[in-house]
Formats: sequence, structure tokens, C-alpha cells
Amino acid sequence: MRECFELQDTDAGGRIGELTVPRAGVTVETPALLPVINPNLDTISPRRLADEFGAEILITNSYIIYNTDDVRERALSEGLHEVLDFPGAIMTDSGSFQLSEYGEITVTTEEILQFQADIGSDIGTPVDIPTPPDVSREQARDELETTKDRLEIAEGVDVGEMLINAPVQGSTYPDLREEASRHADATDLDVFPVGAVVPLMNDYRYDDMIDVVAAAKRGLGADAPVHLFGAGHPMMFALAVAMGCDLFDSAAYALYARDDRYLTVRGTQHLEDIEYFPCSCPVCIEHSPEEVRSLSNKEREKTLAAHNLHVTFGEIRRIKQAIRAGNLLELVEERARAHPTMLDGYRTLLDHADQLEAADPVSKGAFFYTSHESARRPEVLRHRERLERLSVPDTLFLTEGDSDGPETYEDAWRVKPPFGPFPRALSKSYPLTAEVPDRIDDGALEAAAEGVARLVEENPGTEFGLGHLGWPAAVLEGVPDSVETIDLTKEHR
Ligand SMILES: [Zn+2]
Repeated sequence: MRECFELQDTDAGGRIGELTVPRAGVTVETPALLPVINPNLDTISPRRLADEFGAEILITNSYIIYNTDDVRERALSEGLHEVLDFPGAIMTDSGSFQLSEYGEITVTTEEILQFQADIGSDIGTPVDIPTPPDVSREQARDELETTKDRLEIAEGVDVGEMLINAPVQGSTYPDLREEASRHADATDLDVFPVGAVVPLMNDYRYDDMIDVVAAAKRGLGADAPVHLFGAGHPMMFALAVAMGCDLFDSAAYALYARDDRYLTVRGTQHLEDIEYFPCSCPVCIEHSPEEVRSLSNKEREKTLAAHNLHVTFGEIRRIKQAIRAGNLLELVEERARAHPTMLDGYRTLLDHADQLEAADPVSKGAFFYTSHESARRPEVLRHRERLERLSVPDTLFLTEGDSDGPETYEDAWRVKPPFGPFPRALSKSYPLTAEVPDRIDDGALEAAAEGVARLVEENPGTEFGLGHLGWPAAVLEGVPDSVETIDLTKEHR
């Protein structure tokens, strides 16, 4: 049992958790955002991050510190918390990315972890190999073996109370990602970054990103905190949280600000294109876009970075509230409408509905059917599986309307799209209390027909009838031929 992470609440694959960081003497509530701090730049000071934005944890790069003489000396003598002036938890990255980009690794796993411990990091990172997407399987496998070796070395390094990251690699091969996460989970390391996904996000490949995260999650226990490494755009947080990510780090707030880009939960806008700020953070209340445009470069960058952070932290809070209220997937559906590639990401998430179902609470507030994708949510899947365990009479009428059907049937069950059939006694229980639009789409009807087919299949000895409210022929094709179907809208005339 991993002691540093405790789950408080779940919704779909999303969780609210408490990450205990012993060396910092703090607990961090997840989902959490770690702003990235470059010790050589001061866009927004760590003290401001804590006081003004409520940051409980940040991340900085130990490689940059290692290579900057004055910062290194101060960090070694005074400690990182003192140098950065930050009261929360500090995670350090090993700089694997820089090391892999700019040449040979000149420090060993032991040295770099020891250095992170020496400068006072609370969560350190070994030097793994961040294998990019789409490389050959051979390369992904070879590099994964090296990463696994490094994690095993990291287990043996005495770093006191410092927690250690166990990066999960494996490129875009789901089986390798799963193998990597199983291996990492079996070590006594603490936090699990899903690595090298930045190229996927830069190319808007949210579908592939979700497949990679889903694979990594399959090898990790529920007590494993998962960090989507390098993910900092608030647009995709809800999607990633729903797949089970707990930690995000954002360099985006500062990098985008430097480039006059303004973050929103629906995407990125360029400052020169904005006439009205669609935000109520202090920055956007106090300034008009025109005023921000007229600021000096340095001031404009700081001002935009502050807005970018406000919107990013705001989205994290909105996600936490959605998990508490049990409507995280409704939020994901909303976000999925911002960009077609986000919709691909959401549809891919639903491909993993069986995996999400395992963690999804049995009962929540109310199920809102807000798009035909809703028909593929884990709750619909679970309902269908639940049908297998119910006993049915020899003859049973399934009715979408008020009619209980011909008298020849012993009993009548309700049919509600997208769930399908269920005994009346269940109609007040979640998710069958769902709010469904009157103008129902074929996606919901098809899902209901699948539910009918499943029940018929499970009970070959029973004679079924189905009373539906004008289902189109294409939907009725999903209902087995043995079922007597009656269009109740025609019956009433
Ligand atoms: Zn704002």
C-alpha cells in the first residue's frame, strides 16, 4: 500500500486525492497544477504563486540549477525552498528532456537524485529516457529497458524523505506503456509521471494521448498518483482527469504569455484578436485588451501570465467541484465541443468506458444526457451488465411508453434510452433517473436497442415483447427478430 496518496472522492476515472509530501511537511490536494519555475526567470514569483494563486506545489528543473553556478551554490547551501521562497512542495525534474535533446548524459542516476535531495527537493526524478511518439517498436522497447534499469537504481538511492518519481515511458505502444507502468508500480517509488506526451498534445492528438494514459493506468494501482507530464493547457485538463490523471505541470502559462497568447478553457487566443476578455479574473476585470496591448513587453508578459494562471487554476477547481458533484463527464462533454480533436479525445475516452467503470461510483447526482456520446458512458455499460444478474419471467413486455402491452405478458419492464430495459423497481435509482432530452437521438435509441438485445440474449427461455415510441427501422434492426415489436405511437391512434 502506497502511503503518500489517499483517495477522497472519484467520478469516472477522475479522483480527488491527498498527496502527502513528507519532506515539505504538507499535503497537496489533487487534481493539482504545478506551475513550472525557471530559477533564472521571474515571470511570476513562487511567493506570488502561493499567496495569490493558491499553488500548493511547483516544479523546477534540477538540470538548470545544476548548470547555473550561483543558483547551484545557493541551493546547496540554503536549500531550494529558501532560494525560490516557496512554502509548499517542490518537485524537481531531472532534465531528461534537455539531456536527450542536447547531448550525452554526463551524470548518473545516483548523482542526479542525490543532487536533488541535497538541494532540498521534496519530489525528485531519476534520469529516464523520454521516448517520443511513433518511434520504432525496437527503439521504444530498448529505451524502456534503460528507463526500467534507472528506476531500479533509483529505488536503492538513499534520499531520506524525498519522494521519487517513476516515469512511465513506452512511446505510442499501449502494451509497452502498460508493461512500463506495471514495472513502475512494483517498485517502491512514489509518483508516476506519464512521460513524453508533449509531442502528442502539440499535434492535438488527444485521442492518442488518451490511449497512452489508459494503457499506463492499467498497470497502476488505484493508490498511484499519476502526473501527465508536460500538460499545461486548461482546455484538456477535464479530459485527462477523467482518464485518471492527478497532477499537471504548466510552463504554458508563461511561455504563451511571452508570445502574447491568452489561455481559455476553449483554446488559445492571440491578444491582438481579442476585443473583450471572456474572463472575470482580477487581470481581466482591471484591464481592457487595449490596455494590455499598450503595456511594455515585460509588463504585458507578466499580466498575461497572471491571467493564464488564473484560468488554469480556475479550471482545476471547476474539475474538483465536478468530481464532488458527480458530473465530471458532463464537463468533459462540454470541453470536447471546443475543438474537433478534443471530441476525438472524448470519444477515445469512451472507448475505455469499461476501464472507467471500475472506478466510477455506483450512485451520483443525476445523469445528464447531453450528446449522443453520452450513450457510451460507463454508467450505460454498467446498467447493461447489471441486467445479466436480474431474473426475468417466462414472458416479459418491455415498454418505452405507459402501456404494459398485451395481456399475454406476465410482467412489464420500462425501457429508457440510452439504458434499455429495467424492472420498474429500479426506476428511482441512479442512473435511471437520468435527464434525457425529449428530442432523443438515434445514438440513445441504438444503445437502448443494444440493452434489449443483451437481455434477450441472456434469457433464451423468455418470450419478449417491445413497445417503443416510433423507433426508426435502422434502430429496430438492433432488436432480435424473436422479439414482438409494437409501435406504441401507432397503437394510441
Ligand atoms: Zn482573466
